[in-house]
Amino acid sequence: MILRMPEYCKNFRCIADKCKDNCCIGWEIDIDRETAEYYNKVVGDLGKRLKECIKTEGDVSSFILKGERCPFLNKSNLCDIIINEGEEHLCQICTDHPRYYEWFNGLKEGGIGLCCEEAARIVLSQTSPLSFWDRELADEDCDEYDAQLYAYLVKCREIIIHLFEDKSVSLENCISALVDFADNIQNRIDICDYTVPPLNTQLPTLKTDITEILRHLLSLEAMDEKWKPYIENVIGNPELDSLKPFSSADTEQYLRNIAVYFIWRYFMKAVFDEDIISKINLTVISITVIAYLFEHNRTADGILTLESCAETAKAYSKEIEYNEENVDAVRYL
Ligand code: SF4
Repeated sequence: MILRMPEYCKNFRCIADKCKDNCCIGWEIDIDRETAEYYNKVVGDLGKRLKECIKTEGDVSSFILKGERCPFLNKSNLCDIIINEGEEHLCQICTDHPRYYEWFNGLKEGGIGLCCEEAARIVLSQTSPLSFWDRELADEDCDEYDAQLYAYLVKCREIIIHLFEDKSVSLENCISALVDFADNIQNRIDICDYTVPPLNTQLPTLKTDITEILRHLLSLEAMDEKWKPYIENVIGNPELDSLKPFSSADTEQYLRNIAVYFIWRYFMKAVFDEDIISKINLTVISITVIAYLFEHNRTADGILTLESCAETAKAYSKEIEYNEENVDAVRYL
């Protein structure tokens, strides 16, 4: 099978001790069985620590966090398992993070997730149309789906990605065109009509009640203690309703890249449940919230940089994308 990822994934390297929000802090980390068996055989000081710092409940082994930290994250925020055993002996979750994958027949698609600040910096900083990095891979299983629907959705996804890459269409018009296009795709899928609907880029722009959306986000479980006070602060911004989230030249490319990221990552999931609308809701709400957060930060800090925007996108992604219940709460809003 082919593993297909956006070409920019080639540039991803974990920045380890330079990372401001290390993924080895604050996350439960399960260890796959093969790695747990390997760790069980490690001898010496590291072997002793591995035995002391891994718990097994039923079939599931995981690291026993020290406070919020992975017990193998040392004082310099480097991983003692990598230092002593090499990267190839990380468990599957640590090897993959922040990469994500989706399986189809003969094709595994993937990318790097916005929840990592370095991945977010790479995603936001792209200036070229999406291109791909293909590699051969041993076959892996996937869930069943309808091949005709798959081919149809691939065509529709390509059109949506090109829409957001086309700078002659304003971001606001891209969003209203996307919502209309998705409605039409959904209506056609519901009656097994696999003709591609027209894309209308001249529709009126959508009205958004950003305060209501942010209040909804406040009602969700938070991953980071700084998230809710930050969102409360944004809601309290007296200029919030008058911000123009899609009109700033310096963030336009970042937002287009984020839209393409959400479409690439989520749209094809509809082949398994035939539900286009929820994938588009997640995309539209996510770009809208992130766009408002950028503009709020501009009014609060007086400046926006690629790094600060990447951090904002990372914070949003960590709170919403990496909590299944929160993803559902946004896509069914
Ligand atoms: S969040 Fe990204 S950059 Fe930071 S430690 Fe994890 S993988 Fe590395």
